[in-house]
Amino acid sequence: MKKWCVFGFFVLLMATGFADDCSAPSVPVPEASPKAMAFYTSGNILWVVQLIWSLAVPALIVFTKFGARLRAFCDRITGIWLWQTALYAFFFLLIVAILSLPLDFYGGYVRPHAYGLSNQTIARWLNHYLTGTAISTLMGIVLVWIVYGIIRKSPRRWWLYFGLLNFPLAIVLVFVQPIWIAPLFNTFGPMKDKQLEQKILQLADRAGIQGGRVYEVDMSADTKQVNAYVTGIGSSKRIVIWDTAIKELTTDELLFVMGHEMGHYVLHHMWWGIFIYTLITIVGLFLVHLTAGLFLRKCPKQMGFSEIKDIASLPLLILLYSFYSFLLTPAVNFFSRSIEHNADTFGLELTHFNEAAGTGFVKLTSTNLANPWPGPLYIVFRASHPSIGARITYFNEYKPWCHDKPLEYGRFFRPLNPLPGAVDCHEEIYDHRH
Ligand SMILES: [Zn+2]
Repeated sequence: MKKWCVFGFFVLLMATGFADDCSAPSVPVPEASPKAMAFYTSGNILWVVQLIWSLAVPALIVFTKFGARLRAFCDRITGIWLWQTALYAFFFLLIVAILSLPLDFYGGYVRPHAYGLSNQTIARWLNHYLTGTAISTLMGIVLVWIVYGIIRKSPRRWWLYFGLLNFPLAIVLVFVQPIWIAPLFNTFGPMKDKQLEQKILQLADRAGIQGGRVYEVDMSADTKQVNAYVTGIGSSKRIVIWDTAIKELTTDELLFVMGHEMGHYVLHHMWWGIFIYTLITIVGLFLVHLTAGLFLRKCPKQMGFSEIKDIASLPLLILLYSFYSFLLTPAVNFFSRSIEHNADTFGLELTHFNEAAGTGFVKLTSTNLANPWPGPLYIVFRASHPSIGARITYFNEYKPWCHDKPLEYGRFFRPLNPLPGAVDCHEEIYDHRH
């Protein structure tokens, strides 16, 4: 009996590629290349310009009274509130899209091509841009209807009711995103490399994720960068891996990346994300409500409207919301970095591929032109993930199984499936591993 168990254990080790990295060498954090540093600096400048632009456009529309004139124009076309509101939202979003087009084109097409990060055709970029703008305009009109419908009913508490409503709205959006929206931009399908898929499914099984939840997407048509992500909720929940990652990374590097994504999946980070998003939105909307009231009292003449329920106040609400979103960004990023760190811990505990995790991220610094050690301002305002330098350092250090320490997420891991005919010795497999 004992023999069978030990045999079964070693066969399973080989089958899953499960290895002990206790004696593996540390992976040094790479230096950023001059090209990566140029990409980092120009990216920061672009981020500041985009931020200023996102505030300047609605501010101009409000304080030149263009917003008030646009409302008067919509009122002349139709007397029905529903259509007045929809028309105003449509024209406003269209004007913002047109004024933002040069920056969007530079950031989305010119810049990645200039740095050799993309071979996306201009027709494909334009197709994605127009599809994206059409979807966001449609969703924007529906949201404006909801916000102003609530404001008309409750001008004092609208921020709370609309903020709370964001919770179910976000759930619906996250649910339909992978089924209806993402396929408009890219092709999703099962993994092409069946051997690799088998290994990933084995890993997923150990993490308690049922099969058929791993998709490959043709991102190579858009970018040379490498990534993977978890999306959807409930029955639409899935792990998506970019084909660029499959091309660039070794099997073990890829398995660690998948282990990280499985961490997001198993630890319900999507739900946490929606919860935190709702909370931050309520805080942001409350601040918008207070400040909008101040503007409406102090300068109705300069804006051409004096009531929040007037649809002409939309650019003011968007201006204030953008401003407070910026101020709340550090809190959102802090939350995001902590769940990313937890997913790293999960991925390491699931795979024990510390070295492959490190070498995979070394590759990311060149494929994604990343700066392994960004500055503190970048970390506070822009970093949704821990820096690559911090992550590689963590991969080199975090090996509790080598020091007989308990795993943080061991309770989520299922014993490996026994091979056909093998004696069930899960207990022993666990003893061996820890
Ligand atoms: Zn992640």
